[in-house]
Amino acid sequence: MKTAILENERIQQERMNPWKQIDINTKGKIRFTPLGGLGEIGGNIAVLETENSAIIIDVGMSFPDETMHGVDILVPDFSYLHQIKDKIKGIVITHAHEDHIGATPYLFKELKFPLYGTPLALAMIGNKFDEHGLQADKKYFRYVVKREIYEIGEFKVEWMHMTHSIIDSCSLAIETPIGTLIHTADFKIDHTPIDGYTADLHRFAHYGAKGVLCLFSDSTNSHNQGFTKSESVVGRTFDQLFEKANGRVIMSTFSSNVHRIFQAMERGVAHGRKICVIGRSMERNIETTRRLGYIDIDDKHFIEAHEVNRYKDDEILVVTTGSQGENMAALSRMATDEHRHIKLKPTDTVIISASAIPGNEASVSKLMNLLLKAGVTVRYKEFSDIHVSGHASQEEQKLILRLVQPKFFLPVHGEYNHIAAHAKTAVSCGVDERNILLMSDGDQIELTTKYLKKVKTVKSGKRYIDNQNNKEIYADVVSDRQKLSTEGIVNVIVQISQQSGKAVGKPVVTSHGLVPSRESKRFSSEIEKIIESYLLTSKIEKTANTRVIEDDLRNLIRKQILKQYKRYPIIIPTVFMI
Ligand SMILES: [Zn+2]
Repeated sequence: MKTAILENERIQQERMNPWKQIDINTKGKIRFTPLGGLGEIGGNIAVLETENSAIIIDVGMSFPDETMHGVDILVPDFSYLHQIKDKIKGIVITHAHEDHIGATPYLFKELKFPLYGTPLALAMIGNKFDEHGLQADKKYFRYVVKREIYEIGEFKVEWMHMTHSIIDSCSLAIETPIGTLIHTADFKIDHTPIDGYTADLHRFAHYGAKGVLCLFSDSTNSHNQGFTKSESVVGRTFDQLFEKANGRVIMSTFSSNVHRIFQAMERGVAHGRKICVIGRSMERNIETTRRLGYIDIDDKHFIEAHEVNRYKDDEILVVTTGSQGENMAALSRMATDEHRHIKLKPTDTVIISASAIPGNEASVSKLMNLLLKAGVTVRYKEFSDIHVSGHASQEEQKLILRLVQPKFFLPVHGEYNHIAAHAKTAVSCGVDERNILLMSDGDQIELTTKYLKKVKTVKSGKRYIDNQNNKEIYADVVSDRQKLSTEGIVNVIVQISQQSGKAVGKPVVTSHGLVPSRESKRFSSEIEKIIESYLLTSKIEKTANTRVIEDDLRNLIRKQILKQYKRYPIIIPTVFMI
């Protein structure tokens, strides 16, 4: 019996630490550099390098905060990619969410590489390329097949099917010269997904058993205990809500959550309703997923927005964008009675199948107020299963940690508090605390079979994009706009006689956003006095440079305004020599 006990003990030890099979004497180093997605939610992009080759993992965008006036989206700073462009062999896309693909057209305007991804991800990138006039760059698309292995530089990459809030999502298994890496990308473990395709846990187990050097895993929901519920529970909530609805049903969710939309559309059809899709991104996503065969609903069930009024109210399902309260989205326009075709009625039921993304709480609340004022029945959070997250809670994170049993662990996708919580979970699942590193954007991590350490920081950051014209807004413009919005502006025009060096007429002072209009006269004369005394005391020569005078005036006026008003407005002095 003793031998059996000892033998069992040995087997257990081996089983629990499969990474010990990795030959620790294997030479070589790899480097991992997140350029976005750490210290923030969204904007995911990372680089994986050996000495001679590199791959980019995802090229995502993120959203601005309210101080970035006129900025619609943020794209990552690509400086580091320019620096190593000659060794980059390809871009690896995990799934079609904006925070993983949204910045691809901006990258392709500067640098082009083969782009590997599943059909839906590439189709969605293709839509973006069409919009940006990059049709020709679709020749870089490499459509991948799950469970096949693609050699990209010195990396062998397998896309492993994963469940998430968008279809055709994948995790990555990446074989490198020093060992296997697993990158979950965004995930949840849904055992009853809508399309029946569960996460490919067998492949995780396969690689885990062979020994995985490092696991990179999604930290978004690291604070949530238990399991994230299956997408299918939302369908059951829809059943109840459709049952209760007597008039039109208007359902809003994220335009990329095709399974959610599909579940609503299925109920609509079952209840004898026609489906009207409103909102550009939703129309496009539904068109793309139907074309690729991911959604199977017959054409005859769809109608156009202008046809809605031809049907009885209980024959209509509107599926629309705007669940985040976005001003320009269809639902907000309906709520403010600005939508051309859909005028809300008290008999309408509006289903918001989403939760507010951090930062959007105020706009969602405003939308709720408008909808309730319009008298409609709003179905939102009081039904706990009206929305479920697409990200793993702690028990699912543990499942992946236990399947993979990596030597090193790098929590990704999340702010510092999210990755710190995920690190704790990893320790509880047997990962050595010394083998975990908490990264920030721009950190470059060196990984060998023996150690994991930060070696340097590379340039990272965000560039501002105006969606109206898909062009960049430079940082100085954004900071001027911030200043204008919080500090105001002062304009000063002075004419100086070239002959005498004295002022010709009175200076003209105008200001906006600094003093109330009833005080503007008094303010102007206060500034005029400063200008006049400056001109009296300084000896202005014939050759005087207007630039120098303008700088002097700006400094004097700034001092005065700071003393008097404790503000830093933009000051624009203009001097004419006549
Ligand atoms: Zn995602």
